[in-house]
Formats: sequence, structure tokens, C-alpha cells
Amino acid sequence: MRDIFKDYKVFSINPSKLRSPGFFRNMLEYRTAVMRRYRSALKSRTEFSCPLCGATKGREFLKYKNYLLLECSRCGLVSPNIDFSKVDGRELYDDPACIKDTTREVLDNYQYRKQTYAPERLQYILEKTGLRSRALRLLDVGCGPGYFLSHLHDKKIRYKGLELAKFLVEICQKQGLNVAMNDVALEPDKAYNVITLFDVLEHVADPVSFLKILKSKLVKGGYIIAYIPNIHSLAYQLMGQWQNTLVPFQHFCFYDPASLKLLARKSGLTVNSLDYYGLDLLDYFYMKQDQDGVNYHQKLSEAIPLLQAVIDKQKLSNHMRVVFKK
Ligand SMILES: [Zn+2]
Repeated sequence: MRDIFKDYKVFSINPSKLRSPGFFRNMLEYRTAVMRRYRSALKSRTEFSCPLCGATKGREFLKYKNYLLLECSRCGLVSPNIDFSKVDGRELYDDPACIKDTTREVLDNYQYRKQTYAPERLQYILEKTGLRSRALRLLDVGCGPGYFLSHLHDKKIRYKGLELAKFLVEICQKQGLNVAMNDVALEPDKAYNVITLFDVLEHVADPVSFLKILKSKLVKGGYIIAYIPNIHSLAYQLMGQWQNTLVPFQHFCFYDPASLKLLARKSGLTVNSLDYYGLDLLDYFYMKQDQDGVNYHQKLSEAIPLLQAVIDKQKLSNHMRVVFKK
């Protein structure tokens, strides 16, 4: 047979090693807990203000109970209609429910994530920047439990990690990783050539100010590489409000190519590239499995990675990778 997938990037992910068996159910439980806790942060529709462009007109995009996502009529950014000042990040991420969730979904699969995700991330960074690994001076903002940094550490690559959640910082430090809890604004200017934001940018309520600060920490020509959810994806088409990247009170901004370009322009950066690699089918089948008890991941294990590669090629995946350049 011809290699009809030679121009596709096919990821072989073992679902049972990436996520816990009760992934979907656990996600729902977490939602219930935060919805109760941050009820008072919900705003009325008339109080909408776009976190990217400041426009006050938005149309309803998606609704989960009384948690509303609005699409900005000016710039297209999708964001929840909540009072961001009433959601304290530090309190949220060190909350027992969040710790439990992160422990189950990330720490229990730490070695698997380190072995599969970390080398792929590094390879991607080297490809996108054209830098050699020994030239890297990398800052990983929101480094989580540090499985990516642990790989850089093994490879003797120069890096630093920053993390908001105290329990995660402690996990990193116990392993001897160069990780701190300080605000990124306190980092020295022009100290890095690559800043990575893996699943972080969507948590930021004022992305323009944030990227401006990151920019000041980069040398001229430096890169910011962000992995972010894509709400205009097959996963959302199939799952709607039940898509797991809709995380109430945590995911504040959902971008598309136009709003990413606007974000770059407002922050004094350019969009160097935009790629699509997702987990649409994986996430969808976690939901289906929860509904009818069939292990689709097992039954469809040959088809899922190839079909996902096709979805990625069509730019319909539920995750994007954007590279900004200074
Ligand atoms: Zn806007």
C-alpha cells in the first residue's frame, strides 16, 4: 500500500495511560464543585466586556447550566461572562478539589507524560525556532508538576519553570528542578529566547498585559509557544457544553486565528505559526463510554489515531499550538 499518511502527523496515544478511566465523570464532579463555589462571580449578560478588545457586545456561544460563554461581536474571542476579579487563581489551584483532579489526571500518569509528551514538545520547539537544544534558554510559565522540565533537566538544557500552585512547585523542587513560585514580572528582562505556555494562556484574564510582560523577558527575535484549546472544533461539535476544555472559572479565553492575531498585535508580537493537534475523538469517546459503558478506545484503537490526524489536517482539532515571535 502507498503511505497515504506520509504528510500527516499521527500521534499514538495510549488513552488509559494519559487519563484516568473515570475521566469524564470526574470532570463533571469538579464542575459541580467550582460552580457552587464561585456562583457569586457570575455576571448578567448586560455586564459583558471582552477580555481582549473591551467590546461590550457578545452573542451567546454555549451554555453550561447558568455559566454562559459569549462570543465577542468585534474580535470573535469567546469568554465566560464572569467577574474575573472574584476568581482567585492561587486559591483555585491549591483547592483540594483541584489538587485531587491534578493528582489523578497528571501526577498518576507522570512517567507516561514525560516519556511521550516531553520529547515531542522539545522536538516541536526546536523545529519551530530553528534553535539547537544547547542554545535554548527556556522559561516554562505554568509548568505544572514539571514533567516537561524534567526532560530538559535530563538533557542538560538551560531552563526555569514558574508555577502558581504551591503543591506543584513543591513536587518540582523535590525532584531538584529549577522551579519557583515568583511572578513572571520579577524575571530579568531579555533573559530567555523561548517562553512556553502549555495549557496556560486560556487561564489568563488579561492576556495582552500578560504577553507584554513575557515579551520583555525575551531577547529580540525570541519566541512564545502556547498550547491552547480550540472551541471551534469537532470535539465541541460532538460534545457541546460537555467538552472537557470548557472548565468553568478556569478557562477564560477561547481564541481563533483572528483573535490570536489581534492578541499578538496588541502585545507587540507576530503570529509566526499556528498548528492544530487535538484529542477530539479521545475526549468524545470518554463521554460515550460514560454514557453507555462501551470501551471505544479499545474497540477503535486502530482507527482513532488516523482519524484524529485527518481532523488535525482539517484544522478542526480541539487543541491549537501558536508560536508568537518578538
Ligand atoms: Zn473582543
